[in-house]
Amino acid sequence: MATVTDVKTCTVTACAYNNEGCTAEAVTITDSGCATFISLDAHGGLPTAEAHVGACQRANCKFNQDLLCTASAITVGDSEACMTFEAR
Ligand code: SF4
Repeated sequence: MATVTDVKTCTVTACAYNNEGCTAEAVTITDSGCATFISLDAHGGLPTAEAHVGACQRANCKFNQDLLCTASAITVGDSEACMTFEAR
């Protein structure tokens, strides 16, 4: 059974999904940062910040299994990067 990884904290306030946290249903993390990030004048997403990691392409992270995240929760921060990343 797959685990569900929460986006516990996201400090990227320039993102249209950030409304006191990430309100996207799920995000994709890549080597260059959160691929779900988008800068728009409008805000979007769910009414509450309960985002999850839908997919992660950072295969060299110790939490990455089959291109999915197995950490219980992540923090997204500087330059939209996953701050929970740990090299294998
Ligand atoms: S903790 Fe690792 S596997 Fe999980 S989202 Fe961050 S970089 Fe990807």
